[in-house]
Amino acid sequence: MTSTPTTPFPAATITGYPRIGRRRELKKALEAYWAGRSSRAELEAVAAELQLATYRKLVELGLGAQDASLPAAFSLYDQVLDTATALGAVPARFADLADAEGRLGLDAGFVLARGDAGRPPLELTKWFDTNYHYLVPEIGPGTPFRADPAGLVADVRRAAEHGFAVRPVLVGPVSFLLLAKADDDAPAGFDPLERLPELVPVYAQLLRELAAAGAQWVQLEEPALVADQHVPAERLAEAVWDAYTELTAAAERPQVFVTTPYGSPGPLLHPLAASGIEALHLDLVAGTAPSAEELELFQEEDAPVLVAGAVDGHNVWRADLAGRLAQLAGLSGAGVAVSVASSTSLFHVPHDVAEETQLDPLLRSWLSFADQKVAEIVTLSRGLADGAEAVAGELAAATEARRTRAGAPGVRDAAVRERAGAVTGAEIGRAPAEVRRRAQEGRSFTASGPLPPLPTTTIGSFPQTPQVRAARAKARSGRIGAQDYDRFLREEIERVVRLQEELGLDVLVHGEAERNDMVQYFAEHLDGFATTVHGWVQSYGSRCTRPSILWGDVSREGGGVRGEAFTVPWIGHAQSLTDRPVKGMLTGPVTILAWSFVRDDQPLAETAEQVALALRDEVADLEAAGIGIVQVDEPALRELLPLRRADQPAYLDWSVRAFRLATSGVRDETQIHTHLCYSEFGEVVSAIDGLDADVTSIEAARSRMEVLTDLEAAGFSRGIGPGTWDIHSPRVPSQQEIEGLLERALAHVPASTLWVNPDCGLKTRGYAETRASLEHLVAAARALRERITEPAGVPLLVQHGLEG
Ligand code: GLN
Ligand code: ZN
Repeated sequence: MTSTPTTPFPAATITGYPRIGRRRELKKALEAYWAGRSSRAELEAVAAELQLATYRKLVELGLGAQDASLPAAFSLYDQVLDTATALGAVPARFADLADAEGRLGLDAGFVLARGDAGRPPLELTKWFDTNYHYLVPEIGPGTPFRADPAGLVADVRRAAEHGFAVRPVLVGPVSFLLLAKADDDAPAGFDPLERLPELVPVYAQLLRELAAAGAQWVQLEEPALVADQHVPAERLAEAVWDAYTELTAAAERPQVFVTTPYGSPGPLLHPLAASGIEALHLDLVAGTAPSAEELELFQEEDAPVLVAGAVDGHNVWRADLAGRLAQLAGLSGAGVAVSVASSTSLFHVPHDVAEETQLDPLLRSWLSFADQKVAEIVTLSRGLADGAEAVAGELAAATEARRTRAGAPGVRDAAVRERAGAVTGAEIGRAPAEVRRRAQEGRSFTASGPLPPLPTTTIGSFPQTPQVRAARAKARSGRIGAQDYDRFLREEIERVVRLQEELGLDVLVHGEAERNDMVQYFAEHLDGFATTVHGWVQSYGSRCTRPSILWGDVSREGGGVRGEAFTVPWIGHAQSLTDRPVKGMLTGPVTILAWSFVRDDQPLAETAEQVALALRDEVADLEAAGIGIVQVDEPALRELLPLRRADQPAYLDWSVRAFRLATSGVRDETQIHTHLCYSEFGEVVSAIDGLDADVTSIEAARSRMEVLTDLEAAGFSRGIGPGTWDIHSPRVPSQQEIEGLLERALAHVPASTLWVNPDCGLKTRGYAETRASLEHLVAAARALRERITEPAGVPLLVQHGLEG
């Protein structure tokens, strides 16, 4: 006999909710605490109130307070870090921060997340195909695993005191290890998954403690099971089976609910469903509905409840409630116990459409943010229980919203469609890279001639100071006029140009002061987009973005499909101030898509092509204005990469094509740069090559240039700027450290192709650290230039066998 509780799985639930707060309360509280402006008690009070406010809101929206339908899915920084903390999995390089029992306190956790003077933080990387970033656990053969249930238990207890029986949430054991990386001291070939047998008992102990604290259900998230992994599916199936049969065999535990958001678990559905877990979530939006054969797994006597992720947690459109209800009724009619849920945690969408009072009411009527989605889920579950008639009004309203959306003006624009239809493919070719390289080398980018070897540059943005933000806010609210704002921005650009000259950078930028956000700014100057006021979503830690809503056909604003150049006035102004080359900065089509809520009524490839054509006009206008280097950022190229290998070639095909459509209209001597924001290149390295950019800057500092091995192996021969300053933390790298990284880089790539730059834009940094870090960066490049250059000034590139 086990003492597993038997409370049924709730009929309606969500797997997670926005954590940052309706007015970004968590962001403000975290940043105040980190800056020493508030106490730990104040931070904890804000966090506790946010959790309770969430529970109250969810209950008001129709979820049950007492039936475990409320996920305790809050996190101060990141849910993967929280899971690592609960497992006591403290990487060796942070071991000194743990107490005698191996536990990390709040401040120690922030050091793992943000680094300190002596050590870089854990690596940040994209969470599946989303714009959320998680902290990558570092696991070696000796990383300790020790249950530390205090935080989880406290959440359950505090909620109970306020009348909420919540469902604690952890990343599940298999995903936790698949999301981890081998720590630096692990022997070659070590795979964190090898440690599964030691990890599962620690989960079992956490479950025991949670049961003792009164938790009826626990949610274990296994999103890594919907993606192809480095290990074969059979090995994963074994891992899943071993982990969950062992966990469910434990005597004292809550009932186990496993989630598989962002796709379908495919062959892993079988071991999951048969392992003895009590409920299994499937993402019916990004994934597929179970086949007839798979359904049998849910029809058996002891089968888990099928928790249908029927409402999209990752996009903002109202659901087709009638269609979904029919689908759910079909499942339930087949003898499956069905509950209704979101397809993913709702933390990918903003809180509440009702806050967006400035949006066109028609557009607003098509949208559903977190609160609306909860209501949709509750409606579906009522419809499932009581029949479609019981929710006829809600179903009809949803259908009507979809109908008006399909026919609204701007959703389809004849001129845009005609132009896209006329694209033959001939537009995307440039001369061979070698020919362009020679044309660019011969070009006098500066008054003093060509660029030096190891040219220094930045990724585009300079610090967005309180003054810049204040001026923008005033301009928006009309407290300063357009002319004054314009003058302010021109002065800011001049300051940034002078600073770069003073620092001795080779390729300058205008600093992007006019841009609130690299995608939203473009959305504001293109037709087919709408922007929100309160629509913040968490990107990582305290960082949020406000994705735009791409609802219609896209073109430049202000005059038909050719529209008006909108970046040229700023970038042209910067160039007019200096002899050095100013790099024009644009955001690429894939990134504009990835960081917006995209329309779901046509293939992404079609939307991408429209955006690319609008950008192509902007690139042409920059070139015509005398800008010789244009950077088109595609930091999100990998983010949209399908999680299943079979789907990747088609994606890479259209995304690369969109980039080339945007960038290939220029002359040979115009240098095209691109910037990518992450460091796992293995899967996309040939696509990066396919972008055909002359120079590519990438993130590399945190992974200490590891990424270059992939590029080297793939024979990548274009210009490359691996980041040498991790701009995600306030730490200033020393000249020596940057030189060391550049030396590591030179072991993989020839000096003739190496550029020197930070990991990413500087908009979140302050001027003090920016100035110091860039000084070190320029000094490091100069020192190295001297070492690789003969006294006569001839680069020793021949030594590397690379020139000529
Ligand atoms: N040009 C952008 C900037 O510097 C690039 C930012 C990014 O890649 N996320 O801010
Ligand atoms: Zn970047």
